[in-house]
Amino acid sequence: MLPVEVLPVEVLPMRRSAEEIAKMRRAGKVVAEMHQATREAARPGVTTGHLDAVARQVLDRHGARSNFLNYRGFPAVICTSPNDMIVHGIPGSYVLRDGDIISIDCGAIVEGYHGDAAFTMGIGDISDEARRLLQVTERSLWAGIEQLRPGNRLHEVGRAVQQVAEQAGFSVVREYVGHAIGTAMHEEPQVPNYWPGNPGPLLKPGMVFAVEPMVNVGGPATVTLEDGWSVMTADGSLSAHFEHTIAVTDDGPEVLTVP
Ligand code: MG
Ligand code: MG
Repeated sequence: MLPVEVLPVEVLPMRRSAEEIAKMRRAGKVVAEMHQATREAARPGVTTGHLDAVARQVLDRHGARSNFLNYRGFPAVICTSPNDMIVHGIPGSYVLRDGDIISIDCGAIVEGYHGDAAFTMGIGDISDEARRLLQVTERSLWAGIEQLRPGNRLHEVGRAVQQVAEQAGFSVVREYVGHAIGTAMHEEPQVPNYWPGNPGPLLKPGMVFAVEPMVNVGGPATVTLEDGWSVMTADGSLSAHFEHTIAVTDDGPEVLTVP
C-alpha cells in the first residue's frame, strides 16, 4: 500500500537475525488474528467502523501496537476498501451489503517489529466475476511468494504476480506497491507487482518483504478521493488486495502473517 514515489529504487533490503524474525513472527500472528476476527465480523449490515473496533480488541488483547494508526495521520488500525476502492479506505459509517467485496488490511507491532497483511472477502452472495477476481488475486500473491528464495532476484515477484493477473484478463495496479518490512512498516526497497524492467536485488536469507498485489477487473489506473486516502479504480471496476509478510530463509519463503 506504499505510494511508489516515496522510496528510491536501488536500495538493498536489510537482513534480519533469527531473533528479529521471531519477533516479526509474533507480530504476524497478531495480524493473522486480526484477519480472523474481522472476517468473522464482516456481514451485511455491519459498518467498517465496527470492523476497526474488532481489530483494536485483538491488538489490545496481545499488548501490540498499531502501525496504521496515526501513520501520516491515518485515523484507524485497519484499512477497509469496498468494491471499486483499491486500498487505504478509512473505516467508518459504510454499511456492508450483500454482494459487496471488501479488502481489509491489518498491521501490528510487537517489540518494535512489524507485521502487515491484507485479504479481500465477499459479503453474502457475490458475482461470479467478483469471486474470480478474489481467487486470481490470491493466487497471484502466492505465485509472488514462491519467488522469495535465496539466489533469486526480487523483481521475479512482480513478474510472477503480473503473469497470473494478466493471464486471467485482469490488470495490476502500478502506483502502489509492496515493500521491505522490519523495524518500520515501509522499508526499502519497493516490491512492485509487475516487472519493472530490471531484476532487482539478489535475495538472501533474513530479508523480509510484504508482497501485496492489488488487482483490478478493468484497467490499472487509480484516482484518490478528497479524503486524501481512499484509492479507487479510475474506471469504477472491482479491485482486490491480498498481502502477506514473508521472510526469505534457506528453506524458501516463510510466511510470517499466519496463525
Ligand atoms: Mg504493506
Ligand atoms: Mg498492508
